[in-house]
Amino acid sequence: RRLREGLTKTRDNIVAGIDSIFSGFSSIDDDFYEEIEEILVMGDIGINTTTSIIEHLKEEVAEKKIKEPSECKQLLIDEIKRQMDVGDTAYEFENRKSVVLVIGVNGVGKTTSVGKLAGKLKDQGKKVIVAAADTYRAAAGEQLTEWAHRAGVDLIGGQAGADPAAIVYDAVAAAKARNADVLLCDTAGRLHNKKNLMEELRKIYRVLEREYPDAYLETLVVLDGTTGQNALAQARQFKEVANVTGIILTKLDGTAKGGIAVAIQSELDIPVKYIGVGESIDDLQKFNAEQFVNALFD
Ligand code: GDP
Repeated sequence: RRLREGLTKTRDNIVAGIDSIFSGFSSIDDDFYEEIEEILVMGDIGINTTTSIIEHLKEEVAEKKIKEPSECKQLLIDEIKRQMDVGDTAYEFENRKSVVLVIGVNGVGKTTSVGKLAGKLKDQGKKVIVAAADTYRAAAGEQLTEWAHRAGVDLIGGQAGADPAAIVYDAVAAAKARNADVLLCDTAGRLHNKKNLMEELRKIYRVLEREYPDAYLETLVVLDGTTGQNALAQARQFKEVANVTGIILTKLDGTAKGGIAVAIQSELDIPVKYIGVGESIDDLQKFNAEQFVNALFD
């Protein structure tokens, strides 16, 4: 139910429109497909994914000799789920000693998400250490300290402007000394300076390989769901510089652009692993594509 509430605006945007099409058309023709297409694009599912969905829908309709528009609804739902299939979406870092690198540009909700995730893992009984390795944004350290306190987990930080890789180095030492299960690293994401970002990430990866070779490595990109297609573009850029294993899609509570989750999984083949549906510590949920699509269309 929380998921459904969190997605209210996206639901209103996509579903209300879709339902009016299924009830408003008496036959399946070009106009019918065009209207569905328009609604999907307006719902931020993206042009490429939408085009592919419509193509497959047409094929299915022809193959199954469907005449009634209302019968297309389930086909459409199934097709969206198929588009979102990214294969393995395991949360392996929950089961092993691991390092989770969290990257993302300023303002997307990165620090908040790291704090929420720390709280979640702590609640599962895990020993969590958070590294404040986003030394680019001055207030990030303080903000993360507050979150770590709230979540009841240890924090390793450094001075503003310090080398993020050096902080990660210290944090790895602490994680090993304190026998931590998960080391969560809040790192910067300066997409406007890709060369620096790449260099910074490479240094961090090198430290992890050298100092903590048996830890499982997860790299999560945080994207602001309210930015729609821009979030998709950011994910694409991060994919070029890092081995991205998952997405945290934030602020879905206030937006009608939640359809972007479909585009991300369909076009980039990266699983959305968590969604943010509010500002408090409990408002980070594991993402399940099947449930998401059901919540949108039920
Ligand atoms: P950062 O610069 O990427 O670290 O972003 P912050 O973590 O500081 O978050 C920026 C703002 O977005 C803050 O006001 C957060 O409370 C807010 N925020 C983060 N995640 C969510 C979410 O899922 N829903 C809502 N409504 N707000 C969020």
